[in-house]
Amino acid sequence: MKTTRLQTPRRPVKKPSNNLKDPVGVYCRVRPLTSEDTECCVELISNTTIQLHPPDGIKVNRNGEFKEMQYSFKEVFGAFTTQKELFNVVARPLVEDLIHGKNGLLFTYGVTGSGKTHTMTGSPGDGGLLPRCLDMIFCSIGPFQAKRFVFKPDDKNTMEVQGDVDALLERQKRDAQSSTIPKSLSSKHKMDPEFADMITVPEHCKAERVDEDSVYSLFVSYIEIYNNYLYDLLEEIPHDPIKPKPPQSKILREDSNHNMYVSGCTEVEVKSTEEAFEVFWKGQKKRRIANTTLNRESSRSHSVFIIKLAQAPLDADGDNVLQAKDQTVVSQLSLVDLAGSERIYRTKAEGSRLREAGNINQSLMTLRTCIEVLRENQMYGTNKMVPYRDSKLTHLFKNYFDGEGKVRMIVCVNPKADDYEETLLVMRFAEMTQEVEVARPVDKPICGLTPGRRYRNQAFKEELARKLELRGGPMYGEDSSTAEALLQSFASLPSVEITDPNDEQTLPRLIECLEQRYKIRQMAAEEMKKTVNAIRGMIHDWDSKFAAKDNYIQDQQEKLLEKDRFLNGQKAETERLEKKVKTLEYKIEILQKTANIYEEDKRALQQELEERDQKLHRELSDKRRLEQRMQGVMTDTKMKWEKECERRVQAKQLEMQNKLWVKDEKLKQLKAIVAEARTERAEKPERTPRENDKKVRVHVRSASPPSVPFPGNSLASQPISQNCQVSRPQLHRRSNSCSTISVASCISEWEQKTPEWNRNASALSKNKRRLLETPQVRDSNFQERRQGVNKLGSGKVNGYRREGGVDQDGPQRNAPPVRLRHRRSRSAGGERWVDHKPVGSVETDTVLQPHIPNAITVAVPNEKALAKCDKYILTHQELASDGEIETKLIKGEVYKTRGGGQAVQFTDIEKLKQEAPGSTRKRRSSQSAPPQQEETTESEWTDVETRCSVAVEMKAGSNFGPGYQHHAQPKRRKP
Ligand code: ADP
Ligand code: MG
Repeated sequence: MKTTRLQTPRRPVKKPSNNLKDPVGVYCRVRPLTSEDTECCVELISNTTIQLHPPDGIKVNRNGEFKEMQYSFKEVFGAFTTQKELFNVVARPLVEDLIHGKNGLLFTYGVTGSGKTHTMTGSPGDGGLLPRCLDMIFCSIGPFQAKRFVFKPDDKNTMEVQGDVDALLERQKRDAQSSTIPKSLSSKHKMDPEFADMITVPEHCKAERVDEDSVYSLFVSYIEIYNNYLYDLLEEIPHDPIKPKPPQSKILREDSNHNMYVSGCTEVEVKSTEEAFEVFWKGQKKRRIANTTLNRESSRSHSVFIIKLAQAPLDADGDNVLQAKDQTVVSQLSLVDLAGSERIYRTKAEGSRLREAGNINQSLMTLRTCIEVLRENQMYGTNKMVPYRDSKLTHLFKNYFDGEGKVRMIVCVNPKADDYEETLLVMRFAEMTQEVEVARPVDKPICGLTPGRRYRNQAFKEELARKLELRGGPMYGEDSSTAEALLQSFASLPSVEITDPNDEQTLPRLIECLEQRYKIRQMAAEEMKKTVNAIRGMIHDWDSKFAAKDNYIQDQQEKLLEKDRFLNGQKAETERLEKKVKTLEYKIEILQKTANIYEEDKRALQQELEERDQKLHRELSDKRRLEQRMQGVMTDTKMKWEKECERRVQAKQLEMQNKLWVKDEKLKQLKAIVAEARTERAEKPERTPRENDKKVRVHVRSASPPSVPFPGNSLASQPISQNCQVSRPQLHRRSNSCSTISVASCISEWEQKTPEWNRNASALSKNKRRLLETPQVRDSNFQERRQGVNKLGSGKVNGYRREGGVDQDGPQRNAPPVRLRHRRSRSAGGERWVDHKPVGSVETDTVLQPHIPNAITVAVPNEKALAKCDKYILTHQELASDGEIETKLIKGEVYKTRGGGQAVQFTDIEKLKQEAPGSTRKRRSSQSAPPQQEETTESEWTDVETRCSVAVEMKAGSNFGPGYQHHAQPKRRKP
């Protein structure tokens, strides 16, 4: 017997031969609530949808982040779902696939306590998916199982088919071993009572279309992934009671077909459900022991139970296992019970345990990431690297996702409120996993042998045995019926009866006949052989043709599918692009609208700008026009005022000339009188000075000033000659009526035109108070001033002041009134005032009212009143430039003249006037337009003190009256 090594047929890894894909089937199983838990946060909406209700406490804590969320799966199983129901829906198709040579992966995912193990392994009396899978497999392949050790896995993840002898030898060896140790595996009665009820399945199920022309063998391995280490749970470690060896971790390897496998992992060939489950149970026990001794938590490890099914076709006779290459098929189903998906804090881990927990979660995280990347690559056509290698778990399952096979996941949910948050994460992962697609595995390739070989061979053998029994022995190993049929076709044998001992004809004839028959038979056999060969060859040809056709058809179908897919891809791309176009069109529309709005805004703003520009231009031109107009007005006004000034100056000059002429006239008259008097005195020297005085007074009276045109008065332009002709009564009347023709005003106006005089005058005013106190000095100053005036030669003389005296001739008379001698003592009765209020004085509206106690009020001052008083006050009113009445109280002192008359010297002016606040300063400032120097001079000159240094002299009995009143200089008006 020969041994042939057969490799597991190469399965396409990177590019599956079939381009059909199926999404990962995700099922959800909700376990029943325990009696301790009352609040249920999962509700089954339909057989595909569940809804999560956030428990009461969580809503408040998370600010309403958790909403009522619904999750849909391929199917949802409620609390009352039986293991059988679940198996039929989820695991059964995977077993079918396994038997048909296709791979499958089934894993349970969920929080600890959600029923993963219950689902996968089952609970006592209620077997889970694993024992049910095993049961179905053995039910299906039971009659076609190969003898033990016909298939032999090697360390390179390949499966050998051993020859009968090798297999027999190994079997004998195993039997010899098992006889020394308790023989449990093959006997049903000695089955472990621990799990016996878990594998007792009341209704067995069988796979359909099991290839009966093949032999099968099942191998199981059990791996635990803990803390990212792989442990072989079926490894037989010689037990050392003194120093127990810790389990050795295994490594992952890639075989020649790029499939991942656990190197050196024990693969146990099992021939029945009981045997297989016993192996599993052993591993489970080992796991439990390891967890206890190493202080690990089983919920943090992933357990992987791998069922590997090897199948090889029987030969053409249906007698022996075909040892031809490429005919052995190995498929595997991995049943994975994942670690609890809860986060670290839930595991209450500390120290090194925390690291473990971290790794466990890390591997689940990697699984998550791999699924995510896969999904992304598949959905968006990207080519991102899937990080399978980041964890042992994902690395081991790489081929399922990368290659082909069916992947199914059962999400286990515990509906209790405590698990809500974790369940939410589980649900999200599960939903996402559904979007990943895995290539659909292809059907087993046709081996080229006639189907039904095993059955026909069996039937032939049975028939042969029956016939042999009838005949009492085999005929050269040939089929008796065939021989008989053959014999009938030959010519009948000649008679073989020998009556004569010397019959030499019969025997040779028989011999000849027999020889002929033999020849015919030989020929027929040869013919038959030829025919058989020809037919066999034909059948082979047909088979290969069929295979080729089939292959061709499959190829064409594949191409068609590819085209279809391409078309679909194109369609999807077109749709995507159309959508994009629509979106872009919409965007363009919006942008255009926005642009239009901006354009309108721009236009409006430009219009506004233009309007403003125009307005500005208009305003500028208006301003320029106004400026020009104002300049014109200014020049006009200036010219007008210049003319007016000129006119006034001329008028003043005329007036002054007139006055000068009058003075000259008077002087002449005086001279004449003096000359006359001298002559008379020479005649009558005894005449009293009193008489002289009288005489003078008479002349003075006769020398009253002629009518002088008042500045600003219309009379100013009258010819001088007219004024000169003024008669005395006229003069008197005029003097009375025209109170504005005042000596002071005349002087001041005149003086304003003589700056030199002004300077002297201002100097004088400064010294005035002193002069008043020392009469001598004052007199001399007065004289000086007068001389100054005369020196000017302008002819300006105050006629009234000089009344009764000539410069050189009457020094006493010319002297100003002397106060000292005539001053009344205050003790004698205090100051007495002459209150001169001219007729027509109006009451002032001012709050401050002049109140002079002990005064003699007069409308016209008279000698009598003046003689009684030593103070004089004149109420003078005039209209100020601002239209207000200005009341001035001009104060003076009364002196007795040497001649026995009264003289008043003005000393001060008090003013009463109402003004609007703020207006004065403005007006003043406008009045003070001339340079500063000039203003100072003027203000000094217009100062009351200065101006009041002049006085009026009134002789006793004088009747001059108010015509001789002093008046304050009227305010200078602007030219
Ligand atoms: P996990 O493996 O997810 O940590 P288990 O499968 O060990 O959870 O389940 C914990 C407990 O809950 C076990 O005692 C199990 O019998 C029970 N259980 C889980 N799922 C179900 C179910 N669908 N019906 C009845 N009991 C269940
Ligand atoms: Mg478990």
